[in-house]
This record gives sequence, structure tokens and C-alpha cells, in this order.
Amino acid sequence: MSNVYQTVVRQFDRAADRMGLDASIRKILAEPMNEVVIHFPVKMDDGRIEMFSGYRVQHNDVLGPFKGGLRFHPSVDIDEVRALATWMTWKSAIVDIPFGGAKGGIQCDPILYSDQELEHITRRFAFSLGANIGPEYDIPAPDVNTNAQTMAWILDTYLSTLPPGERHRSVHVVTGKPVEAGGSLGRDKATGQGVVFCIERWAQDRTVDLSKATYFVQGFGNVGSWTAKLLKPFGASLVAVEDHTGAIANADGIDPEELAAYVEETCGIAGFPKAAPIDHESFLRTKADMFIPAALENQLTAETAPWLDARVKVVAEGANGPTDLDGDRILGEKGIDLLPDILCNAGGVVVSYFEWLQNKRSEFWDLEEVDGKLRKRIMGGYDRVREAADEYDVNWRTAAYIVALKRLARLYKRRGIFP
Ligand code: NAD
Repeated sequence: MSNVYQTVVRQFDRAADRMGLDASIRKILAEPMNEVVIHFPVKMDDGRIEMFSGYRVQHNDVLGPFKGGLRFHPSVDIDEVRALATWMTWKSAIVDIPFGGAKGGIQCDPILYSDQELEHITRRFAFSLGANIGPEYDIPAPDVNTNAQTMAWILDTYLSTLPPGERHRSVHVVTGKPVEAGGSLGRDKATGQGVVFCIERWAQDRTVDLSKATYFVQGFGNVGSWTAKLLKPFGASLVAVEDHTGAIANADGIDPEELAAYVEETCGIAGFPKAAPIDHESFLRTKADMFIPAALENQLTAETAPWLDARVKVVAEGANGPTDLDGDRILGEKGIDLLPDILCNAGGVVVSYFEWLQNKRSEFWDLEEVDGKLRKRIMGGYDRVREAADEYDVNWRTAAYIVALKRLARLYKRRGIFP
């Protein structure tokens, strides 16, 4: 069992113990429902055949169809996907949307492949998944190293396998599509927008003036860059950034729009002319009010969490699982607030739900409507987690789990177990 899945199991046990979760429901939720592992061949540009391993784990669908992203990364394995799928179940329950939890991915380093090869890898995986995905069954979305283009390839491949009459009513088989292929306005920025709504509510609660706040971000892809761009109008100052190419800092502030344009061109933050390079430890020791991890798992651990400066007031988890159990404990000891992943980055799945609804109803919502509805869902989730933290006297991660588990337990009690 990998570190990250162990973390999920322990987080779950902690919340289940604290709230006294019914023993039968605990058994059901402790394991994923389905696990699909596919080894498939793809023809490379030079005619060679390469084998790939793809995964789709469906954790639970009692609340609605399985839902979750697809990740292309060398670290993808069955345990990582199990962990990410399980978090998706809790996430949808917290923000009260009718989806279950799933996740998938392909173990590969996309940097090594041409666009055409990536298209073939994606399409062959989608074809191999076959009926394991579907618009009313399991709906993929983008995650690390996948994007709207990836979703468009999956959409096209899936629809091509259907009888002609069923194609147009099946476009909700994926979300996070390009707008011209049935995507929703606001889906590209949705996760970052949700992070910013959470931070906004937290700042109100703690009477923090965001116009004077400083912050640093790990990961400057979809989630990290949108979070930074959306924090800019509040006047908060971005003072350090790290991605897979290195870390940079500028105490006078880094303009998120300029950095995003630079990354668009160079595929990484390294060499950005208006900031100085720093090492990983110096990055995590940045003196700033807020830290937003928006890259990968296990970044704040027994070794690294102590590095966080005394000035850091909150960790807002844009990424899934950036803080392990030791990290959580150390944040608590340091008095740092935690906006846990399953609340803080739920904006993506919320707007995915809006996209899915628009497709089903043949509607097209304007950005104002999408943002307004997203705000309500995230703020509602925030308030439920805060109430649970007060009621059970637990940290916000355990509180978020309790909110999710209560909702799932209520439904299981009503429906019962077949036969
Ligand atoms: P992305 O591929 O767009 O960006 C990933 C970023 O992480 C890149 O900037 C990359 O350089 C950086 N990174 C990779 N390895 C790193 C390392 N070792 N150190 C520092 N930075 C590193 O992915 P994304 O969609 O922005 O996802 C980021 C995180 O947010 C993931 O944990 C993902 O599961 C989570 N998330 C994404 C969404 C979404 O809608 N895309 C929704 C919820 C949660």
C-alpha cells in the first residue's frame, strides 16, 4: 500500500471513530467498489509499439454516477488512483452534488511523447475502457497533465463507438471539455475559483485583509495559475512559486498573468526574468501569510512541515493530498489553519456537475450563473465543515470527512443493502 492510500485510510478511520460511524457503513465505504486495470499497446511515431498501464478506480456511486479526473504521470499506480478516487467521493458529498467518486490515469511521462502519440495513447485508453465509462455511469475530467484537449479526444473516441442515434445525447461522458465541444464556461478556472472562494470566506472569518496578504504557490498549472490570477483583484501579493522546473521568489511580488504567459511559452517557471531562483527548502520557508499547494501529494510531511514560517496563517490545499498525517499534526501544533483538499479544491467537480447538467438539458449558462452557483456550493461546504469542526472539536480535515460521511451514511440507512 502506498503512502498516499494509507493516508486516506487513516484519515477515514480517524473521522469514523470520532463520529461513531455505523460499523456496516464503515465497511462499505472503506473499499472501492470497482477497479479496472488495463495494459494496452500504442503505436509510436517511429512505428514501435509501446505498452502502457491505465487505471480507473470507482470508489462509490451511492450519491450518483462515478466522477473524477484522469491523470497522466509516472507516479500513477493503483494505490494513488484508489486514494484519489476515495477523496472524490468525500468531495462531492461535502459540496452536496449528486456524484460518486472515481479517478483514473495512465502511468506515463507526457513530456516524452509527441502530441500525436499522446492523442493515440488517450484514444486507445478510452476505447479500452469501453463501457466502464459512460454519461450516466462514470464521467472522467482533467487532472494533472491532462486538459480540455484530452477530454475532447476521449469524447470523440467514446461517441465513435456508439450507434449514431445515441451520440448527441452522450456528450456528458466527460467534463472539462473545450467550450466548443460542449464544455461549460468557467470550467477551466473552476478549481482555482473554488480555492479563492474558500480563502475569501476564511479571510472574513479570521478578519484577514487580503489586500495586504502575501502568499506562495506550489504548482503553476491549471489550479495554481488560476488561483493566483483570481487572487490578484483582491490585492494579495504572490511572492514565491514552485513547479517541476524549480522555484522562484520576489518579495516585491510576481505578476500571475505575466508568469502564466511565460509558462505558456516555456512550459515551466524556471528562468522567469522578474524573480530569482531559490531551492526547494527556501521555497517552503517563504515568509508569507498563505501557502497554496497546487501540485502533487505528500509535500507537507514530518520533514518539511516544520519549515513553514511562523508568519503562515493558512494552508489552502488546491492539490489533492499535499499534506500527510504528520504534516496535519505539525500544522495544528503551529496553529496554522487548514482548508482541506476535499473542500478547498471541490470547485472543479462542482462546475463539472454544472457542465454535465447543461449537456443533459441542452442548455448553455453564462459565466455569471456558473460563478454564482459555484460560490454558493463552496461557501455552503465551508460552513458545514466549520460547524462540524466546532461540534466535534476536530481539525478541519476530520471535520470535512465527518460532513461527507454523515451524508453518505444517511443515504445508506434509507436505501438499505440489497438483497
Ligand atoms: P497541472 O498538470 O495543470 O499542473 C500541475 C503543476 O504541478 C505544474 O505546474 C507542474 O509543474 C507542477 N509540479 C509537478 N511536479 C512538481 C514537483 N515535483 N514540485 C513542484 N511542482 C510540481 O495539474 P492541475 O490540474 O493543476 O492539478 C494540480 C493538483 O490539483 C493535483 O493534485 C490535482 O489532483 C488537483 N486538482 C485538480 C483539479 C482540476 O480541475 N484540474 C481539481 C481538483 C484537484
